[in-house]
Amino acid sequence: MSSARRRTRRTSGHVHAEPYVGRRPRPGPTATLAGMTDTIVVTEGLTRRYGPRLAVDGVSLTVRRGEVYGFLGPNGAGKTTTLRMLLGLVRPTGGAARVLGLPPGSPDALRRVGSLVEGPGFYPYLSGRENLRVLARYAGLGDAAVDEALDRVELTSRAGDRYRAYSLGMKQRLGVAAALLGRPELLILDEPTNGLDPAGMADMRELVRSLASGGQTVLLSSHLLGEVEQICDRVGVIVAGRLSAEGTVAELRGGASLVVRATPLPAAVPVAQRLAGGAAISTVDGELRLAVEPSRAPELVRALVAADIEVHEVRPEQRSLEEIFFALSGGVA
Ligand code: ATP
Repeated sequence: MSSARRRTRRTSGHVHAEPYVGRRPRPGPTATLAGMTDTIVVTEGLTRRYGPRLAVDGVSLTVRRGEVYGFLGPNGAGKTTTLRMLLGLVRPTGGAARVLGLPPGSPDALRRVGSLVEGPGFYPYLSGRENLRVLARYAGLGDAAVDEALDRVELTSRAGDRYRAYSLGMKQRLGVAAALLGRPELLILDEPTNGLDPAGMADMRELVRSLASGGQTVLLSSHLLGEVEQICDRVGVIVAGRLSAEGTVAELRGGASLVVRATPLPAAVPVAQRLAGGAAISTVDGELRLAVEPSRAPELVRALVAADIEVHEVRPEQRSLEEIFFALSGGVA
């Protein structure tokens, strides 16, 4: 969507204007189902039960306009079921959700959301362009929309080839192009890199980032930490149907810490305690770990040396998303 069009939407007050205009917006960043600010998706206690099994168990998440939101979780965690509920393909058995301020699956919401959830269904004997034209006509869109979508996923040069001749990566890109028809405000992609080789995955990541830099909001699911870490602004971690954590990658990692190897280690502990104040200190595998800013390393070394302690190594350390993920999932990932 062009910035001019975005501006028009903000000021027009038309029914397709900025979705939260006229929907009792409240000041501040807090989003609720009643009044959303820059929030494009919000769920409250969203639940889906299949018989005795809770596939999705009270998920409350928020996706903000313009961000790439990574829905991260191991296989079977409930990602697809959640995304399907946001598209109106599965009915929740509890809780609620709003997409662009609208009930999920309502015609108005669907017009403004593009998705790649089911795996793209295309005619193998038609070209990529012809396939998109079929979909575009169905949606009341012209050939210009097809060309624009092909251009955005960088498939124009191969658009005349038959679908069945496409690589998996190209098929996936065509799926994203189909989702982009009609310039949706929100793109929902279920495991967009699934099955792709490393080069195809890198291409897909680059595509998602380029969509985001063009102002598109993207909600994608993944079971791959590295992927989410590389492309997502914010992450929601889902484990066994429950949202275990939500925040930026930096927030989930928490603050950095300092790790010290020194002898004798027991003598180093009270010195470190004095420096750390109330911050957490632990000894693991013969190393001392202090939850303090790495910039305090020189101060710590001076204090240890002044106490006649030999310092072998001081290094900053930050928990990887992988450690956090494993901690949250109890090693299920
Ligand atoms: P994956 O990446 O493996 O697809 P996921 O995180 O997307 O995993 P879901 O597909 O949402 O997980 O599945 C969550 C749980 O709900 C699983 O235990 C799954 O078996 C169950 N489930 C999903 N759909 C149905 C269904 N239609 N009927 C019964 N159980 C279902």
